[in-house]
Amino acid sequence: MSRRTPYYLILLVLLTACGIPSARSEQSLQFHADSIPAGAQRLMEAYPEQVIGYEDNHIIFWDYTRLIYNEGKNRTTEQMHIEQDVKDIFYQDYDTTRFPPDYGYDPGRYRSAKFMDKLYGSNLNEVLMNLVKVEWCPSLGGTPVYFTKVAGAAEALKRVSDELEQHPELREWVIGAQTFCYRNIARMKRRSPHSYGIAIDLAVPRSHYWRSMYPYANEYTELTYTNTFDMRVVEIFEKHGFIWGGRWYHFDTMHFEYRPEMNPPKSDLEIVETANKPRWYPSPWLVLFTNHYMWSDASYK
Ligand SMILES: [Zn+2]
Repeated sequence: MSRRTPYYLILLVLLTACGIPSARSEQSLQFHADSIPAGAQRLMEAYPEQVIGYEDNHIIFWDYTRLIYNEGKNRTTEQMHIEQDVKDIFYQDYDTTRFPPDYGYDPGRYRSAKFMDKLYGSNLNEVLMNLVKVEWCPSLGGTPVYFTKVAGAAEALKRVSDELEQHPELREWVIGAQTFCYRNIARMKRRSPHSYGIAIDLAVPRSHYWRSMYPYANEYTELTYTNTFDMRVVEIFEKHGFIWGGRWYHFDTMHFEYRPEMNPPKSDLEIVETANKPRWYPSPWLVLFTNHYMWSDASYK
């Protein structure tokens, strides 16, 4: 380095590169976290065309109707199956490392009926208007199924199908698919996600469902977790924004449901980018300084 290098300038540049920008970005993140709850933020990211904003404890839909986010009630898990607010969707995070699921861990099993009614249709006619046919694993002997086109659900299912078709060895796990069915959840007074065209059941005879195995159990009964489902199928669904009922203590291993707010889709590109991403990016000022003072002599001689 040259004798005439201005050291006060080095100090200034290093401060700009390391300290000041990071402190500022932390502050702005905190500001957003305080003003918009994490759950509402996830809904806006997962359903950008449907959930367009958040204001004054309400999420705002595309038609400017509003739905309260937090009613201020702390419900028990049993109560959450009867009535819910939007925040209850995020009662538990969808953590794939927490497997097999421990007592009471049912991530994504709590849903907001009002939210789903608004997105996918509040009656049979409205839901039917949104259903489209998806060719389900045709090369493996699958049959077409109906799925909602809202929020990219049918497209996501098609991507799952395309990927599963690359694995003929998984055929026995993907045939016999059942999707749309306008009904309530077994022994509950609320509509099943199958009623909205966002869920698909696979390999029913090979699957395990807690209600069938424990017909006299209630929500709080201790169960023995049972699953034989092929995890390669699960991984492909989860990559495209679906959650799996086999991650629930109240296991339903045939069941896959499009829930990008719980489990955001991951593209191949994203996976590669994350793997290659450096942990720290030098500031452009630091790059400029390094190039000018450290390497310029060597480069231009
Ligand atoms: Zn199901």
